[in-house]
Amino acid sequence: MRADGRENDELRGIDLKLNYTDNPDGSVLIEMGKTKVICTAMVEDKVPIWMRNSNSGWLTAEYSMLPGSTSTRKQRDSTRGKQDGRTVEIQRLIGRSLRSCIDLNLIGQRTIWIDVDVIQADGGTRCASITGGFVALYLAMKKLYDQGVLEAFPIKNFLGAVSVGKVDDQILLDLNYIEDSRAQVDMNVIMNDQGEFTEVQGSGEGGTFSQEEFSTMLALAQEGIRDIFVDQRLALEQYLEDYKNEKNSTSN
Ligand code: UDP
Repeated sequence: MRADGRENDELRGIDLKLNYTDNPDGSVLIEMGKTKVICTAMVEDKVPIWMRNSNSGWLTAEYSMLPGSTSTRKQRDSTRGKQDGRTVEIQRLIGRSLRSCIDLNLIGQRTIWIDVDVIQADGGTRCASITGGFVALYLAMKKLYDQGVLEAFPIKNFLGAVSVGKVDDQILLDLNYIEDSRAQVDMNVIMNDQGEFTEVQGSGEGGTFSQEEFSTMLALAQEGIRDIFVDQRLALEQYLEDYKNEKNSTSN
């Protein structure tokens, strides 16, 4: 039994509040246990210079933690004058991951901005950003599709992410901060609903892992992400009939 009462293979409770703020094309507040992240998706009618003259669009992400999201105040990047390495690493991961679930040829010369702001950090913020970012992206694409701005619905598959790790020689799903800070091994797994991985980041943090442990962690993460898809689908329920119809009409 873990400190918060969970079994080793148990996710924290996930709550997704859709259309959390009004201005973005899509917005979501995702809570995974005590980790809380606001994810927004906004569409801009231009692409980076290197993409001009192509028929494709682009998707990029920015990640930030609010000063009060951590137990000791986190200085704003704008005050420091630069982003730290962790921020850059995480936002590139979020952008890369979300690009894998959308056909960018179907959005024209547009850029989708996924902005994620951690308002409370308790481990797994990058995974929550991807899981919530996907839902915000879905809502934004649905809005543009319904408005007739997009001729075809560009989302190819669902995408979710979860952390898994080795703590005190036990393999645990969805680490909170206390567990993460003591982990011998920390892994972040990003997978789509076809069961394909977009990224697997596994790091020995003072420990190592065997091939068998790697397989166990991966299988546990897969199970967790399948549960996350259920939460995403439930949250998006009112939009999903359209998803099925759109998938059918684009595959016909
Ligand atoms: N953390 C923190 N201050 C920081 C960076 C991280 O308090 O500057 C905490 C926060 O709770 C975060 C956790 O450490 O969720 C784990 O951070 P990590 O870099 O592993 O990323 P995450 O698990 O959030 O994706």
